Amino acid sequence: TLTTDQLAAMLTYASGVIVDNEDLLCSLDRNIGDGDHGLGMARGYRTAAAEIATTHHDTVGSLLNAFGEALVDSMGGASGVLNGQLFVAGASRLAGVKELTVDGWAQLVAAGLADIQKRGGAAVGDKTMVDALVPASQALADAAAQHDSFPQALHSAAGAARAGAASTSDFRAKYGKAHALGDRAIGHVDAGATSMSLLFGAFADWAA
Ligand code: ADP
Ligand code: MG
Ligand code: MG
Repeated sequence: TLTTDQLAAMLTYASGVIVDNEDLLCSLDRNIGDGDHGLGMARGYRTAAAEIATTHHDTVGSLLNAFGEALVDSMGGASGVLNGQLFVAGASRLAGVKELTVDGWAQLVAAGLADIQKRGGAAVGDKTMVDALVPASQALADAAAQHDSFPQALHSAAGAARAGAASTSDFRAKYGKAHALGDRAIGHVDAGATSMSLLFGAFADWAA
């Protein structure tokens, strides 16, 4: 399990990794989008990390909700609300929880993914963040069913997200500016899938 303080440390560490990759994410978005994905991600995760650093949260649910709401409020762009909802959508189910289990984390990510798909309409193969999130969420559900440790679960999810993000290179895009490029989007990975892969990779690195 992770205490609320450990979860805060994990979110803070991952936010730092996102901020450090601002230029990479902008350059990926420049290939087939408008080049601002790193700007929004860095602004959002810097704001969210500052929010949880200044306010103490007694429960996992309150921490995740505050972190996600800060992303929603500060990020902007097509991916801003979706990044925030990853943490907010399932947070209320963790309202009284002080120790997060692998199963709790798997359910949070599953609820976030479901909300992202409901809002954005994207399925696997549409060249979005969903291509990283679906395998990551599945890996976490499998890890919970197998009673894996937290580090093992986070490691599996990171590998799955990385493979999912890499797969977007083969796809045409169904959303955003990349959609208008048709076949010319093939050969470029999606920026939002890559940022999700960085996020889940950072969670695993924090726990390792
Ligand atoms: P914008 O496209 O408004 O400039 P960003 O550059 O921050 O926003 O984010 C672009 C990313 O958002 C894409 O790479 C993609 O992963 C994700 N995205 C865009 N539309 C959707 C959608 N409908 N569902 C899920 N993810 C989406
Ligand atoms: Mg963009
Ligand atoms: Mg934009």
